[in-house]
Amino acid sequence: MKIHDITAPIYKGMPVFNNIPEKQPEITTTTSAHITESRISMDVHTGTHVDAPLHMINDADTIETIDITKLVRNVKVLDATSISEKISRQDLEGLGIEKDDFILLKTKNSFDEGFNFDFIYVTEDAAHYLVEIGISGVGIDSLGIERAQEGHPTHRALMSNGIIIMEGLQLKDIESGQYFMVAAPLKIQGTDASPARVLLLDQMIG
Ligand SMILES: [Zn+2]
Repeated sequence: MKIHDITAPIYKGMPVFNNIPEKQPEITTTTSAHITESRISMDVHTGTHVDAPLHMINDADTIETIDITKLVRNVKVLDATSISEKISRQDLEGLGIEKDDFILLKTKNSFDEGFNFDFIYVTEDAAHYLVEIGISGVGIDSLGIERAQEGHPTHRALMSNGIIIMEGLQLKDIESGQYFMVAAPLKIQGTDASPARVLLLDQMIG
């Protein structure tokens, strides 16, 4: 069984949203005698992560309330690498997306070296299409599932319908098709997101 690690490495100088310096992780390491200890200070949206509804909806659910069985399951990696600028409803139609699917969108973003201000994103009408189908979750290979949309309608449409959002996936080396996913956000209490280790297994389970 092959394990694909689609998690971004976390380090100072890594790509962060809009290249905002304050979003860089700070890692400090101290050594005393034989004991080394490190501390990390970072945004919960650093690198590969899962968003919770609280991120875009006041008083909504927090990250630890997401049932882990919704993140450890079969997923479909969809090839969206031919799409420029944004993923619209028309782009998603015909990709065979079905009710209860968890889809991972592989786009040109996976081939960017640093943060790309023009990253490919999911439009509001595409989000409504996914809500109509009734998918369970959507992951993308950018640090945001949307940009340039006033009021964040893509996040809000998905979140208010219980659709999980994952961002910052690394899909460059992943072929489109079906996989078993293990996505494990840290069990941080009360926050709007958490970094996650995300693995894809070639072998489907269940
Ligand atoms: Zn996020």
